[in-house]
Amino acid sequence: MKHRLFTIASRSRGRKQSSPLASRSFSRLSSQSDRPSFGIAFDIDGVVLLGHIPVGGSPRALRRLYDDSGELKIPFVFLTNGGGFSESKRAQDLGQLLGVDILPSQVILGHTPFKQLVNRFEDKLVVAVGKGEPAAVMSEYDIWTTSLGLQINVLSIDEYTSYFDAIDPLATYKRWTTKTDIDQNITSNETAKRKIAVQTERVQAAFVVGDSVDWSRDIQVLCDILRTGGLPGKETGNQPHLFFANDDLEYQATFPAERLGMGAFRIALEAIYNRIHPIPLAYTSYRKPNPFVYGNAETVNLDVENTTNSGIRCFKTLYMIGDNPKIDIRGAQQAGDPWFSILTRTGVFKGKDNHSEFPADLVVDTVEDAVDFILRKECGS
Ligand SMILES: [Mg+2]
Repeated sequence: MKHRLFTIASRSRGRKQSSPLASRSFSRLSSQSDRPSFGIAFDIDGVVLLGHIPVGGSPRALRRLYDDSGELKIPFVFLTNGGGFSESKRAQDLGQLLGVDILPSQVILGHTPFKQLVNRFEDKLVVAVGKGEPAAVMSEYDIWTTSLGLQINVLSIDEYTSYFDAIDPLATYKRWTTKTDIDQNITSNETAKRKIAVQTERVQAAFVVGDSVDWSRDIQVLCDILRTGGLPGKETGNQPHLFFANDDLEYQATFPAERLGMGAFRIALEAIYNRIHPIPLAYTSYRKPNPFVYGNAETVNLDVENTTNSGIRCFKTLYMIGDNPKIDIRGAQQAGDPWFSILTRTGVFKGKDNHSEFPADLVVDTVEDAVDFILRKECGS
């Protein structure tokens, strides 16, 4: 999908995310006196999916959270450090893979907390880094401006880099082509004007929305942005803000061994930056072990409850089902009451007993076992 630069006409600040499905899905809950006093947060990678393949009986497990007519019975969210695509797109993809209706508000991605930062960068140029559609993700969060009359707001690092000749000295040796997200409908004259605007507009923040696809280029360009105060190749200046959607060193995908994640990229960037710049790199990571993210999941769960007109904060237990003790279980432990952690063996953790450093409240083989435990405990079914 091509990233569309926002205009004033497309501004939608304050729009509440909702859909007809929201009221339909939860309408029955409001009329039920036995509305559940618990909610569930599912990690995605290694718990319900391995790559794009459902794992651990996840479609069956999730279907048990809906009634026979497809209406949601048990409030749940997906809580993952992954990202790169908008919550609405991820909800649609998850729904197709898992065979149930998922609302965008049920998907909390690594970069979802960025929503709360957008006001700080209104009318500012920001760069979005990572696989997928990083600029589109940030645009959905409503960062926008009409900088220099050219309607520049958030640029992917692919597009940003394309405006600086020779900024990546290795580009000619790279055998892949990089999608630049540049609108093909604009004229070469407009492109030239945009190039000048981008080169003279100070980048105020960089958001690492997803895993970097081209580490060498992204580290080079981020170092350029960060040590020059947002004007690569020009003067030096104060470091712009830098945000990471997560800090996972490794994650489990379809390859048998774990893969390097955004935390590994952060370490590489930080190590290099601190060698070439006298002031250490400053950054903020939003990651699942951070209790803030768990608080956010609680809020979303409660929002779901609020759509039932209850308005009552009635969750006695929130279950976190994850595969990574250092991320999922540790996060739930740090968040404290009312979180209850369940560790599965379908992803990062494969141990026979509990994890020694971050033991979960319960260890099971699969997500289906976890849901079975929860429903038996809470509903006796
Ligand atoms: Mg996981």
